Amino acid sequence: MPWREAVRLLNEAAAHTPTVRFLDWPEDTAPVVRQRPVRSGDDLTAALAHAVIALLASPDRDRLRACHAPRCVRYFRKEHPRQEWCTPRCGNRARVARHHQRHKAPA
Ligand SMILES: [Zn+2]
Repeated sequence: MPWREAVRLLNEAAAHTPTVRFLDWPEDTAPVVRQRPVRSGDDLTAALAHAVIALLASPDRDRLRACHAPRCVRYFRKEHPRQEWCTPRCGNRARVARHHQRHKAPA
């Protein structure tokens, strides 16, 4: 899917549930601007679209990675430079697949 089309669909999904900004300021941390749906019972697609928009517009976007483990379709936020998979389980599966690839008999 072309990039512009994906952004258009994301914005369209988010528009199904308008949100309002509010200040979240816990006592011992810095204040954060958050958003919540104007009305309750919003649809899940719109809620997910709002979360994706917030993530893509944040500095965390640069740490977003696709997991390349076999059969995994997840994305994850890279927490350290050597992290390559979304979970340790995916890391194990990828290592096993790599080992199997190296040691399988030549055809
Ligand atoms: Zn994974």
